[in-house]
Amino acid sequence: MSDLTELYQELILENSKHPQNFGAIDNPTCSASGHNPLCGDKVTVYLTLDGDTVTDIRFEGSGCAISVASASLMTECLKGKTRQELQTLFSAFHGMVTGEDIEVEGNVDLETLSILAGVKNFPIRVKCATLAWHAVQSALENKETPVSTE
Ligand code: ZN
Repeated sequence: MSDLTELYQELILENSKHPQNFGAIDNPTCSASGHNPLCGDKVTVYLTLDGDTVTDIRFEGSGCAISVASASLMTECLKGKTRQELQTLFSAFHGMVTGEDIEVEGNVDLETLSILAGVKNFPIRVKCATLAWHAVQSALENKETPVSTE
């Protein structure tokens, strides 16, 4: 098990040094920023939606390895997901990092995100790991409903 833990730590560091989908989107459908004052993590997420589906998602920010790695892994997981799938994934992920048993509907693939499963042993890091997800939620909530002429 300890080998696995080391592997995961390496993957977290790797993801934080070379984050995926890092940078802004020029004309995002919505965006929002998040700040974790406990740790100093800052993140801004940008989403492009096609109807209910996330077609592109990127982020910018700085902070600890956990927060950057988590944002990077999140963007990898959310591309192509619907809003509903996104919520389910967030519930499952939140359960994983807080160590709570959460029942989620449908199939949830947590394989990519499981790199962060060790966070549940460090409760103070939960906010680092979930910061980008909360930013995505607030981006989606603030999204203006496209005007329909019908
Ligand atoms: Zn942090």
